[in-house]
Amino acid sequence: MLFLDGLDEKDKKEIFGCLDELEEISQRQAEAYGYNKKADDSPLNITIKPEILDTSALEESKGDKDDFRPSNFEQYIGQESAKQRILSYIGGCKKFNEQFPHTFLSAPAGCGKTVFANILANMLGKKFVKCGAVDIKSEQQLVDKIVECKGGILFIDEFHKISNKLGTFLLPILEERLVSGIKIKPFTMFVATTHKGNLSENLSALVQRFLPIELEHYTNDELNLILKQFHAKTYPSINILEYVYAEIAKNSKFTPRIALRLLREYAYIENLDMVKDNNKIIQDGITATDIKVLKYLQENNGVGKNSISKYLNVEPKTYEFEIEPFLILKRLISVGNRRKITPQGILFLEGIE
Ligand code: ADP
Repeated sequence: MLFLDGLDEKDKKEIFGCLDELEEISQRQAEAYGYNKKADDSPLNITIKPEILDTSALEESKGDKDDFRPSNFEQYIGQESAKQRILSYIGGCKKFNEQFPHTFLSAPAGCGKTVFANILANMLGKKFVKCGAVDIKSEQQLVDKIVECKGGILFIDEFHKISNKLGTFLLPILEERLVSGIKIKPFTMFVATTHKGNLSENLSALVQRFLPIELEHYTNDELNLILKQFHAKTYPSINILEYVYAEIAKNSKFTPRIALRLLREYAYIENLDMVKDNNKIIQDGITATDIKVLKYLQENNGVGKNSISKYLNVEPKTYEFEIEPFLILKRLISVGNRRKITPQGILFLEGIE
């Protein structure tokens, strides 16, 4: 069922082709069904007192600490093959005057998915609308987001969390641009996930309609460049020595977001040992929690993710997608049916004792 309430005339024209016909259908539907917005669809009624409004942009040249994010591919370090792929698709779409295809981007958390999609929108000169899959609870909310992006890019983060019901609703939208049987204007859906191998069967069929792009792990040299760029944009007043960049890069689990967080903390306290201590880093990005996992596996070799998560007191998914991947990458544990510590993992534990 499709309702057009809440859209102004311009929005309707932009989104839908055959406006008059639509209005008639919409009116008929509204009459037939009696349209009541569901409680969870209505925006929260929030009043913001003037005292807490951010007026910093009005103050003269204070500089915005949020502009450190890369706004183009020159500033977006590494990921050469993903960037190349995007550039060739932009070229192809221009050549044939086509809309940029729906895209599915997978990478671990903090590795630049959101920034990547935002840069694409900049390059296409289109609007960028961002939301998380958990924020979209109904078909209406999804359609509202499509309307909001005005033919630009609708970025949906953590797409693996979208419900099967919405996945089914999305299929004709992606395949034929049909919302409840009515053709809508082209737009690009850009979805991202940290859990590529964890999509339900329904969603993986849907995701086959997307252009798949995967980001790679960052090298220490790339993290070094990201840190230098961030430093120059954000804390130019302090001096940071080469070895500090190198140490932070090495302890960031190959993840830009962690690297930037550590550098910010370093800028505040200018003491690297304290930064490492505060973040419970033992060596090469391995933290006290990682050591706990290794020791647990040394004592209970061949256990399932549920028992480790219980031991760590975290959700199994948090263990599986936020803690374990780094240990696998470092070859300290192996994951088949059961989790095991590797000979390398045992050597590592011996080394730190
Ligand atoms: P994700 O969406 O994958 O969780 P973000 O796009 O939010 O990650 O990126 C996390 C932070 O790391 C951002 O502050 C971003 O500016 C920075 N960042 C990520 N990738 C890069 C990159 N390739 N070059 C420069 N900065 C990056």
